Amino acid sequence: MTATDTRDAVLRQVDELEGELVDFCQRLIRLPTVNPPGENYLECAELIGRELETCGFSIEYLTAEARPEHSEPFPRTNVIGRLPGRSEHPALHVNGHFDVVPAGDGWTRDPFGGEIEDGILYGRGSADMKAGLAAALYAAEAIRRAGITLDVPIEVSGTVDEESGGLAGAAYLAECGRITADNTAYAIIPEPFSPHRVCIGHRGVYWAKITATGHIAHGSMPWLGTNAIDSMGPLLEALRTELQPAIAERLTNMPVVPEDARRGSLNINAIAGGQYGQPTQTPCVADHCELIIDRRYLLEEGFDATRAEILELIDRVAGEDERRRFDVEDMLIVHPTQAPDGSPLVAALEESIEHVTSRPAEIVASPGTYDQKHFARIGGVEHCVAYGPGTLEEAHQPDEHCAVSDIVDSAKVMALTLLKLGTG
Ligand SMILES: [Zn+2]
Repeated sequence: MTATDTRDAVLRQVDELEGELVDFCQRLIRLPTVNPPGENYLECAELIGRELETCGFSIEYLTAEARPEHSEPFPRTNVIGRLPGRSEHPALHVNGHFDVVPAGDGWTRDPFGGEIEDGILYGRGSADMKAGLAAALYAAEAIRRAGITLDVPIEVSGTVDEESGGLAGAAYLAECGRITADNTAYAIIPEPFSPHRVCIGHRGVYWAKITATGHIAHGSMPWLGTNAIDSMGPLLEALRTELQPAIAERLTNMPVVPEDARRGSLNINAIAGGQYGQPTQTPCVADHCELIIDRRYLLEEGFDATRAEILELIDRVAGEDERRRFDVEDMLIVHPTQAPDGSPLVAALEESIEHVTSRPAEIVASPGTYDQKHFARIGGVEHCVAYGPGTLEEAHQPDEHCAVSDIVDSAKVMALTLLKLGTG
């Protein structure tokens, strides 16, 4: 067979498999894997495992037993399937998280019904990202049913907890040595970026808790104390009038969408002080106040400078007053990640997208983060991107949905990409 014949044969197989692919998406949606707390993870890992086995994969279950998120009622079980290639070369890996966020209010359909109407599949996880996981599995199956064995193994994994950071999921697979640069050549994460878009990376995240400490005194004689809530006032003002405008001046070269997200941001996530939330209040000057900030930073800014800029501002606000003190605790650090320039993975996806959708591929970067950080930063798998059906705008929304035609197109693109990267 010529390369064109092989490609056509694989695309034909995806079309023939559409019914099975959609049925598998529906079965995944009908198993509510709501996180938190992580419902039905074991059942879902086993559902994916059985489907992988039917498609010729050998299966491994990896449970993150040592992680604090893991418990007997809510086990953190991940599944990896491996379809052998002609050689033992590093694998082509496709990873999808199977946890979903809670349904929330405002649905006009059953969030876990997996209904299809007018070619649209509805349900929590239809876009983010059970359809993507199913499309990946059936992309591999289309290659197998076309009678083709790739030069390298294909791996498909289903992992937990992406919505809450992925530490017991993708991060665990990387930490325990199951996903490394030695055994994994390329990784695709089918997050919902639309069938014509490749997402090459994401910005950085820095969450910090800033605690102001004051001096307690009687509330009727506040001048004898130092009010920590009052101390937080000038800090909030400085964040708003100094730091936020400075951040807004800087533009990344990463193709982040939407366009406004090409600048970093600083969001005040929470504030609490004094006797807030206590059943009874007594007359005291507030001696503590806590602020949580969510800073999204650019690849070009880097983490060290991002953190230093905040510390410097806090120092300035604290000034000479010894009774006004601020402490900073790092809560979450996610470094920005981007696939290397000229990555063969991106090139193969671009070519496949153009072939399947007859439109040029769009290269984007994500405003938020996803499991790419764990593949790249812990596993060392630099050639990792996100590509999958559904749109980001649909993720986590009521009446979340995904067009069946998008699922099929994405499966075709992934199949051609695997074919291209996996044959000489
Ligand atoms: Zn997702």
